Amino acid sequence: MSERWTIEICADCGLPYCRKEDETYKSRCMPCYKTTRSWDLNQSDKALQATQVALKKAILRKNKVQAKLPKRLLRELMVLCHPDKHKGSQRATEVFQKLVDLKDKK
Ligand SMILES: [Zn+2]
Repeated sequence: MSERWTIEICADCGLPYCRKEDETYKSRCMPCYKTTRSWDLNQSDKALQATQVALKKAILRKNKVQAKLPKRLLRELMVLCHPDKHKGSQRATEVFQKLVDLKDKK
């Protein structure tokens, strides 16, 4: 049995939830699964739902930032911020590294 976890989107509420990779039969999050069975949601389920909402917001925010920064502009920013052009400045190195991280995530 796989111990690798993946993030999926719940078929009922549309929020992200975690399941093990080989649990492909799971199409909804635990709170929604319990709801379909008319089980009561406990404090942990409610905490999970709040986490799911926060995770969805974080994913949307991340996608929005990446969508707003075209690859060409990113490359130009990297050239402009390169530490070699700023006498090896610590700040330039930090900003350049952040741009490299952004580029790697694309
Ligand atoms: Zn759900």
